Amino acid sequence: MEQRLTRFKNTIKLAYKTKFYGAEMRKRNLKPEDFKSIDDLKKMPIISKKDIVKDFWAVIGDPKNVYKFHTTSGTSGTPTVVGFTYNDWDVYVEQNVRCLKLAGIDKNDIVYNSTPYGMFFAGFVVHDAAKALGAKIIPAGRLSTGKQHLDLMKLFNATVFIGIPQYLLKLGYYLQDNDKDPREYSLKKAYVLGEPLPESKRKKIEEMWDIDVRIGYGLSEVGAGAECEEKMGIHWPTDHILVEIINEDSSGKGELCYTTISKTGTLAIRFASGDHSRIIGKCACGRDSILIDYIEERLDDLTKIKGTLISPFTIESELFKINEIRNYLFVVDSNRGLDETRLYVELYSEMDRKLMTKIKSVISASTSINTTVKVIEKDLIPIIGRKGKRFIDLRKKNAYENVIRKFEKSV
Ligand SMILES: [Zn+2]
Repeated sequence: MEQRLTRFKNTIKLAYKTKFYGAEMRKRNLKPEDFKSIDDLKKMPIISKKDIVKDFWAVIGDPKNVYKFHTTSGTSGTPTVVGFTYNDWDVYVEQNVRCLKLAGIDKNDIVYNSTPYGMFFAGFVVHDAAKALGAKIIPAGRLSTGKQHLDLMKLFNATVFIGIPQYLLKLGYYLQDNDKDPREYSLKKAYVLGEPLPESKRKKIEEMWDIDVRIGYGLSEVGAGAECEEKMGIHWPTDHILVEIINEDSSGKGELCYTTISKTGTLAIRFASGDHSRIIGKCACGRDSILIDYIEERLDDLTKIKGTLISPFTIESELFKINEIRNYLFVVDSNRGLDETRLYVELYSEMDRKLMTKIKSVISASTSINTTVKVIEKDLIPIIGRKGKRFIDLRKKNAYENVIRKFEKSV
């Protein structure tokens, strides 16, 4: 508690010196001395990604000691710059070591890191965390084919996969299509990042590879947490990052709003994340950190179709409950001003009337929209973006419009 308060006060002092937070504090007649307890955080305004994107130097606490930058395109498309001091990198690595430990990874593991090494920071931070744990690391990063990944995983007898869950699913399909069984690989665990993971999809991946899949969650501006063996939610490092729920609804769910208290580079103070969840409290495992419920949705991802608010996460969750479905693409489009939805599915089996009825009813139950369903051959769905998006809204300006149009024309 004491440590948190000291860290919090130091962060406010640092923030006061920055162009952006300093101006916000002066506007409110606030001085660092006005922050005596953590509750005083409420005196600060809530900010969003927009404020950090506008001028990244304006939110850096100690610009002299920044030694590197990473960027993220995020889900909403605008690149965010995060400046890291040496201190910050140590903080991120410390948090990620905890995440890997929570996920059951230890020094005996051979960690296959498929997270890209580049401007996006996750590849490096997970790498350094695995190194700190004493594990062996295969720094694969982004490779051009699934086969290259599989060959390396086999060569090194990797026991842990780190990366995007959709990718692990895809690698499994590749093996199955070539009459190989993913369960013959030495993989025991996966630590998955980068996108919300419905239980139905987790189950699919776990059964396919006969592994334990653990979820990690983080934001480049803020830091990271992970789930433990109880799989009740995400353990959050509140000694580094304070968390509030804003615009809470009656179920206690709202937007997660974060304040970093141990960083000195890019400072996030009352940073509204756009992630929708709730605070659960303590975990059954007894570890001394609070749990955040799984992030199902970014608020930006909720989409209105024909006047109804649709959740891409729910669609994914429901579709993966159908055993016959191996991949899908959901397209929202506008035809002469009217909303239109099209679902493309890749199947394990042949389509019959019963299956078609099942798919249609699942989609209409989660969207109350009449959607055209088309079965396509395996592996035709293009990989869209770094995370392989499966829900595309063509009514909005979309960087992938040409790819989607070309795909739709070809099938
Ligand atoms: Zn736990």
